[in-house]
Amino acid sequence: MAVAGQGAAMADQVIPSIQQEQTNLLGLSRAQLEQFFIDIGDKKFRAQQVMKWIHHSGVTDFAQMSNLSKGLREKLSRVAQVRPPEIATQQDSQDGTRKWAVRVDGGGLVETVLIPDGNRATLCVSSQVGCSLDCSFCSTGKQGFQRDLTAAEIIGQVWLAINSYNAFNAGKGKRVVTNVVMMGMGEPLLNFDNVVAAMDLMMDDLGYGISKRRVTLSTSGVVPALDKLREVSEASLAVSLHAPNDALRNKLVPINRKYPIARLLESCKAYIDAQSDTKRVVTVEYTLIAGVNDQIEHARELAVLLQDFPCKINLIPFNPFAQSDYKRPSGNAVSRFWQVLVDAGFIVTVRTTRGDDIDAACGQLVGQVVDRTRRAERYQKAAMLSSA
Ligand code: SAH
Ligand code: SF4
Repeated sequence: MAVAGQGAAMADQVIPSIQQEQTNLLGLSRAQLEQFFIDIGDKKFRAQQVMKWIHHSGVTDFAQMSNLSKGLREKLSRVAQVRPPEIATQQDSQDGTRKWAVRVDGGGLVETVLIPDGNRATLCVSSQVGCSLDCSFCSTGKQGFQRDLTAAEIIGQVWLAINSYNAFNAGKGKRVVTNVVMMGMGEPLLNFDNVVAAMDLMMDDLGYGISKRRVTLSTSGVVPALDKLREVSEASLAVSLHAPNDALRNKLVPINRKYPIARLLESCKAYIDAQSDTKRVVTVEYTLIAGVNDQIEHARELAVLLQDFPCKINLIPFNPFAQSDYKRPSGNAVSRFWQVLVDAGFIVTVRTTRGDDIDAACGQLVGQVVDRTRRAERYQKAAMLSSA
């Protein structure tokens, strides 16, 4: 913003704010990066060179991008940056699960979890700090909504996970991250543009080259955004259903009051139909909560609801957290529910809890983050008091 009476003499003081506006190239999709190079008066093929440096080699310093001219490197360091979010903490579970609390601009924390499983390793990525949708069984919802993550903060979680294994350019054919699920904190479809740009980078060969079947967006059912997604993305789709009828889903997933089950399933079906790849199905996520949605009659009703719907079903036994009175069902209750669906001909998996010792399970993420933040505040206050 121009201020009257402040001319050239103020130029030095203006520089810091210009630096803050440096474009973070980490979050730009290929098309956006090409446009960036056109906008700065260079050639669009530079985008390919720079993407390889950032995403394949993990390089953030333009000075190290040796196939760019010195002039361009200097120009880039003035107008741009490659800045992943910061790792606040990293925890390793005995079962190999690794969890990061990632600090984003403004001080918020989100969590990213890498879950190795045989030859695969699935990275669970956050899309927002908090969530506005307030599903009754979700600790992220209890935190309320703080802000959307930028595309750089979303793809930055993939960058950090890979970089933390020091595995850029490993060239051994073994990928650190084989699958990505947008199932961390937040509702990805409420942060549409940034999530789409980040998923494009995950699937782009010049980004992380993960197949579209292995990049999954999970939504609680923001139908208009899902209708828009089929025009722009080929990622796989998971839908958080959690109930076989509207009366119950209205209580568990409040957005259902706006977009009821029939509309949601119709939109999911249209998404699948729009994909070039005909064998696609939707993953239906169903969090089982003892005495709430885990009875045999719920399973039967679910089987009828989904009988013509192209899907596989993933049952998630509820993960308890401090602010919730809900309980996880017994193993027997989970098996009974599973059996009804299998007998009805569905492919049904039960999500095993991973990273229990580091609280990395679904819905447990934020409670720990918030707690840790408060603990950090307490430590800070204690330190301030003792040094006063
Ligand atoms: N907002 C998106 C993605 C993040 S939630 C969505 O709702 O789909 C990722 C998955 O974890 C969702 O299926 C969600 O319902 C589930 N989940 C959230 N809290 C949970 C808890 N306490 N126990 C088990 N699953 C939970
Ligand atoms: Fe938000 Fe998903 Fe949690 Fe619901 S389950 S509150 S949509 S993060």
